[in-house]
Amino acid sequence: MNITQAIEKGRQCLSESDSPVTDSQYMLCYVLACKITYLHTWPEKNLSEQQGTDYEALLFKRKAGMPVAYLIGQQSFWSLELDVNAKTLIPRPDTEILVAMALEKIQLGMVVADLGTGSGAIGLALASENKGVQFLAMDRSQAALKVAQANAKKHKITNIMFWQGDWLSSIAKNTLDMIVSNPPYIASNDPHLKRGDLRFEPSIALVSGQDGLKDIRLIVKQARLVLKSKSWLLIEHGYEQANEVNMLFQQAGFEQVQCAKDYGDNERVTLGQQPL
Ligand code: GLN
Repeated sequence: MNITQAIEKGRQCLSESDSPVTDSQYMLCYVLACKITYLHTWPEKNLSEQQGTDYEALLFKRKAGMPVAYLIGQQSFWSLELDVNAKTLIPRPDTEILVAMALEKIQLGMVVADLGTGSGAIGLALASENKGVQFLAMDRSQAALKVAQANAKKHKITNIMFWQGDWLSSIAKNTLDMIVSNPPYIASNDPHLKRGDLRFEPSIALVSGQDGLKDIRLIVKQARLVLKSKSWLLIEHGYEQANEVNMLFQQAGFEQVQCAKDYGDNERVTLGQQPL
């Protein structure tokens, strides 16, 4: 089986996936330890017997629904190729809007916390762009923090510290210059949890009580205590939660509350400023 045939095999095998060719290319690159350009440059190159078997095993798992990111242990986010595993959420392109919004407001000398960092996606993307800013990446899950720490090492990002904690409960009052978070925000009975990649992702990173807002409520409340005056809180949320999250920010006393849309034109990130 050569590279062209392998991709064709993947295309047929993964006909239920939204992206059978791309899925196949990623998995083939993983098996051949090569970049995607290699596949285009050497389409007639034959796979070894072992490579063929490994590739077919991946196709089989992918056909059963396992996300490509978990199968190859990697996902690109912002400018970084991040290691991921089943203990971390798979970083989404939509979350890049949160990074872009935060970058507009970050200034030299700040201390910025990323809550529920998972694979480290948001904190590491921001830290890689701002060497003069100190980042604190927090998560309840030790297993996720291990992945995030490995990602920092892989990308030689040193202006970030990792901390196990339950949202902001261990942070002293009036100490942070910005908080960013992509917390769990899916309602516990949401049928989406039984579909696609979500089935394989850690529910601790997805589900937040009956209405999906349990954790956001807590973060908004706690953030008012630990943010310095005029500092910003930025939170990603579900595409139908913008109004409720806006209300939570307003009720807590945040000012300049606004919402930003993601690449799919959904209201995805709400931000607000701590009063003077
Ligand atoms: N954005 C993810 C999804 O809906 C959910 C991530 C989260 O709960 N933080 O697929």
